[in-house]
Amino acid sequence: MNKNDVRHFDAVVVGAGFAGMYMLHRLRGLGLRAVVLEAGGGVGGTWYWNRYPGARCDVESMEYSYQFSDELQQEWEWSERYAAQPEILRYANHVADRFDLRRDIQFNARVASMAFDGAKLQWTLTTQREDFTARFCIMATGCLSSPNTPDFKGVDLFQGDIYHTGLWPHEEVSFHGKRVAVVGTGSSAVQSIPLIAQQADQLYVFQRTPNYAVPAHNHVLDPKHQQAVKAEYPALRARAKLNATGIDFDYSERLALETSHEEREREYEARWQRGGLSFLGAFMDIMTEEEANRTASDFVRAKIRRTVRDPEVAELLAPKNTIGCKRLCIDTGYYETFNRPNVTLEDVSRSPIEISPSGVSAAGRAYEVDGIVFATGFDAMTGALAKIDIRGSNGTSLEEQWAEGPRAYLGLMTVGFPNMFTVTGPGSPSVLTNMLPTIEQHVDWIAEAVAYMRSNRVSRMEPTLEAQDAWVAHGNELAGRTLRYTCGSWYLGANIPGKPRVFMPYIGGLPRYMMKCREVVDKGYEGFLLS
Ligand code: NAP
Repeated sequence: MNKNDVRHFDAVVVGAGFAGMYMLHRLRGLGLRAVVLEAGGGVGGTWYWNRYPGARCDVESMEYSYQFSDELQQEWEWSERYAAQPEILRYANHVADRFDLRRDIQFNARVASMAFDGAKLQWTLTTQREDFTARFCIMATGCLSSPNTPDFKGVDLFQGDIYHTGLWPHEEVSFHGKRVAVVGTGSSAVQSIPLIAQQADQLYVFQRTPNYAVPAHNHVLDPKHQQAVKAEYPALRARAKLNATGIDFDYSERLALETSHEEREREYEARWQRGGLSFLGAFMDIMTEEEANRTASDFVRAKIRRTVRDPEVAELLAPKNTIGCKRLCIDTGYYETFNRPNVTLEDVSRSPIEISPSGVSAAGRAYEVDGIVFATGFDAMTGALAKIDIRGSNGTSLEEQWAEGPRAYLGLMTVGFPNMFTVTGPGSPSVLTNMLPTIEQHVDWIAEAVAYMRSNRVSRMEPTLEAQDAWVAHGNELAGRTLRYTCGSWYLGANIPGKPRVFMPYIGGLPRYMMKCREVVDKGYEGFLLS
């Protein structure tokens, strides 16, 4: 096939992670000719790239899975409470095989540009090998898929090995006998540091901001428990959708500020012992009242001080900001790792890191290392879209249109980009929820919209500016009421220099969001222009 060849489809899906795979399945079910273009060499999206030691989901396996096929959810056996990356990737591959998806996925096909032709009412997508045209284009590019490597001075001169947690090599990496630097202390670092420390001769952790971590208490899944969950899967899935996060947690309706100190401590301790993200569900006002939040953060700080033997190190590890403002980390032995004699914590909050041919220097000290691991996160939610030159109906690029922050109606479509849908795009609950059910809800909505267009002879769909503006204003208004604005998180784009500070995910909770999506459809796609 020559580079100039153009292949026509009814729909092109960009990305073969969990969103792209299910989208393909649904489009096929509608009888559309669809293709998925995937930059990687296999399915799985974020789980294909994030192979760092300790990579594991922070949502329990029994819930971090598809529910569109009851046979699939009944037959698949998870081995642990929280699945590790290799198992999740096996699951993704199993789904691809089970639903015969691979024949319509082009691997190693990175989309470089996309443009909408208003006369032909079609999108043209270019890759290095071929070009594609289609009426519908569905961006399933993921929320945490564009790794962020800050521009550290001297990085090009480093003579050792450089890794990024979000772009981990596919071959085995051994740190045995090595001196290693880890830069960053977010979820990826919290998961990988304990395992790297077990291998490396010496590990230096460079921390700019400490993060809160709650124990995972991961364990092998008891087959009886698994059977019991499977016996009531539909009820569990339905219950989960009633919660803001789409996870079947026990969210307390009590207020921390109206509960005695002893009772609060008992509740926090019970949740600490259970482990996982439900810690923040202990009281309803944790994310709305600073004082209530402090009761939870004090509890975690006390745990850190009790765990880490060196009081100075414990103080450095104890976060001072709002708990839950940044994504809560779920750990296995993170704080304990700092009691090891081969682990050193370096505070780089006041002076930036510099890299030399032989190592890392910070705060006036130089550390010779053989390898550097950047656990520096992602250009979240918009990064993967911004890497593609996407041109809408009047030639404007999406990146330019979103220069002041992303604007989308329901996180599903953007004015000026007709027939282009985003799965879990900015303005949808996405990263604040269990991604799998959220992906399914989006894909189902998009499939229904495409089916509606085809059966009603509608060839072009995009939101109205009024509907989009109102949705963005509503999202901002809700975000302003929570404590999530009080720290420099990736939810706000604050981790990327120059990125506008806008709270990107919709914070109104999954039930409210799903109701809105349903209402829009029931009112004949209210807020959308159909022609
Ligand atoms: P992250 O949370 O954004 O953490 C990045 C870390 O790198 C932060 O500690 C950050 O410090 C540091 N950093 C960035 N630039 C730096 C610089 N120039 N100098 C020094 N330090 C710098 O990224 P992540 O850990 O990859 O996690 C991202 C998200 O992915 C998570 O929040 C979670 O949603 C998801 N994730 C989930 C799991 C899981 O399921 N368990 C695992 C991994 C990731 P600052 O805080 O000061 O910016």
